[in-house]
Amino acid sequence: MCHIFSCEILTIFPRMVEPYLEESILGKAQKKGLFNCRVLNIRDYAPGKHRVTDDIPYGGGAGMLMKPEPLFRAVDDLRKDGVPRRIIMPTPQGKRFDQHMAEDLAGEAKTLTFICGRYEGIDERVSLSLVDEEISIGDYVLTGGELAALVIIDAAVRLVPGVVGDERSTELDSFSWGVLDYPHYTRPPVYRGLAVPEVLMSGDHRSIKRWRRKEALRRTLLRRPELLFIETAGLSTEDITMIEEIKKEEKI
Ligand code: SAM
Repeated sequence: MCHIFSCEILTIFPRMVEPYLEESILGKAQKKGLFNCRVLNIRDYAPGKHRVTDDIPYGGGAGMLMKPEPLFRAVDDLRKDGVPRRIIMPTPQGKRFDQHMAEDLAGEAKTLTFICGRYEGIDERVSLSLVDEEISIGDYVLTGGELAALVIIDAAVRLVPGVVGDERSTELDSFSWGVLDYPHYTRPPVYRGLAVPEVLMSGDHRSIKRWRRKEALRRTLLRRPELLFIETAGLSTEDITMIEEIKKEEKI
């Protein structure tokens, strides 16, 4: 039986996320039954005629906060089906998202439930007793958690076996083998005076493989040198030789 990546997004703006989930690779993955994502409107769990989901902060200060009751009620309601869940809150204060976390989430058997904040954020009691994990997609502040949830889901879904047609393409992506991806070229062979490196058109697979590894190492050394010093880079003796060659070529 194949693995189904299942998630839920709790948001006050369902229409912001629904179209993205229906298009392209994510849409196809849903049709293939490899991925499913329910989008739930937090307002549907807010009490009262006006279904209010926000309120002013205790202690004063700017902006509004998302109230705890609709979120607790929503999760209580979802849990009635007995399905195991991992409750994730996107927040700039969370653990920084990366490819390893995407791999971990892609293999998760539990349903991932994303709680999307807005305004100044969410009443702290949600983080204290509802949420399993807080994830940040980077050191900047968005207006809401919807884009962050989509970023996390997108990065994880494409790693689910069968989602991306040729699985070799995700295996060779940046970060997956510890270094950045090598440069890619397609036709035409020369465009605006810029030629495709000859080795790529040579048909010599050994040379192509070496060129790609060396260019991946070059990019990593020039753009993200710190990646080369972590264990996952898994550098071979040939890699070390190539790095020395690159240093001479780049005069570094
Ligand atoms: N006052 C909060 C703070 O400084 O940590 C920021 C609130 S932000 C304007 C509103 C919502 O956007 C957050 O509750 C969170 O859901 C989402 N958000 C903003 N930046 C994010 C980031 N870098 N990663 C993940 N979620 C983010």
